[in-house]
Amino acid sequence: MSVIIGLEIHLQVTSSKTKLFCSCSADYRNSPPNRNVCPICLGLPGVLPKPNRYVIEKAVQLALALGSKISDRLVFMRKHYFYPDLPKGYQISQYTMGRYSAVAYGGSLEIFVKGRRKIVRIRRINIEEDPAKIIYPEKDPWKSPYTLIDYNRSGIPLLEIATEPDLSDAEEAVSFVEKLLELADHLNITDPSLEGSFRIDANISIEGGERVEVKNIGSLKDLEKAINYEIIRQKRILETGGKVVRETRHWDDIRGVTVSARHKEFEEEYKYMPEPDIPPLEIDHSYIEKIRSLMPELPWVMRERFIKQYGLTDYEAGVLVSRKWLAKYFEDIARIYNKPDKIADLLINDFLGKINERGGRFDLVRARPEQIAELLDLLDKKVISIKILKEILDKIVFDGEDPKKIISEKGLTVISEDEYLEELAEKVIRENPKAVEDVKKNPKAINYLVGQVMKLTRGRADPEKINVIIRRKLGLLR
Ligand SMILES: [Zn+2]
Repeated sequence: MSVIIGLEIHLQVTSSKTKLFCSCSADYRNSPPNRNVCPICLGLPGVLPKPNRYVIEKAVQLALALGSKISDRLVFMRKHYFYPDLPKGYQISQYTMGRYSAVAYGGSLEIFVKGRRKIVRIRRINIEEDPAKIIYPEKDPWKSPYTLIDYNRSGIPLLEIATEPDLSDAEEAVSFVEKLLELADHLNITDPSLEGSFRIDANISIEGGERVEVKNIGSLKDLEKAINYEIIRQKRILETGGKVVRETRHWDDIRGVTVSARHKEFEEEYKYMPEPDIPPLEIDHSYIEKIRSLMPELPWVMRERFIKQYGLTDYEAGVLVSRKWLAKYFEDIARIYNKPDKIADLLINDFLGKINERGGRFDLVRARPEQIAELLDLLDKKVISIKILKEILDKIVFDGEDPKKIISEKGLTVISEDEYLEELAEKVIRENPKAVEDVKKNPKAINYLVGQVMKLTRGRADPEKINVIIRRKLGLLR
């Protein structure tokens, strides 16, 4: 039974300073509740929404990057439904059925899964406003005695990207969203590390069954879980002779299940009508060409360049380009310090882990590129060991302290690389008594112990040197 998945991804244009139809601040995350509001985003009668030019530009940029065909005219529509998060009783969006009025249609994005490439086709890209944020004090709506609404999020600009049903499992879906987020990051549309910066709806069906739409997926982990849950649920129904009904389900991230929405939602029920307060916007050729000329380097082009220009592996280039900030940081360091492989090694194996522990927040980094370059230089000159570098990295990265200053303050230079290797060799000998016995019978067996030490240094030490140290420690060398 083959699985068919299509996605709709809502990206917040987190780089926009203002909301989609008014001049309220879009920085809702750092504001007290219901502070960034005005008559327009509160949906009061008699107001005139005015489209945000910057958001339209960003939508066109995304469409160009995906190779989509941009519409000649952009039409906003009212999409009606009643929910407390929607003060107007309708959301200003674009028509999602048929080929009418969205920003762009078609295009594709290539993903790489299980060792092969796959083209995922894009159906359309449109602009819409985010509804307000509903807060349940007990997290679970059914257990909460009351509900809070924060209208700071009402009217935040969203780009909606819908794919054709070209995906066939959770891994492909996650890979697609990762790739799209990488692109949105490079185009300075969305900062994926911000809470709530993207949401996903997944249309999932199994050959011969009806399509089920799972809404409200807020992370890549949840996307994987929701798809796997839904595939198992639908397969069970089909295997026991039942029928999968066409319906909307919600992803409940607390319980890890999809739950049927009490009401079936079909596009026809939204009673779309053109938004009478916003005339259709003509998008002319010269405008598109102007935006095209201002496009930054796309991530897949940058990746190829990193491999060629810096001699990095495909993997290294892929990790560094996965976030625009990281790619820029790498290049800034590479301009000062001329060993790109060492920079890549430090950033990927040590630096990135620390950032990820802090939710991928690059904005917390205080270290200037020159400081990282200096640190690597100190390592080259053997003023410090890898061990010391790891110890002081935190302070340099997040406090922006000067490497030389920390080293001299703490008197760290006295521990040499040799002493560090001695420590590691002792540890390996202590933890591998059987291998030590083997070496006494067969001298070649020492390679195993050398390998263990190498592993601890992540392959950064000289194996000949380790060999000598171990033999000396085992009394095999006078
Ligand atoms: Zn407003």
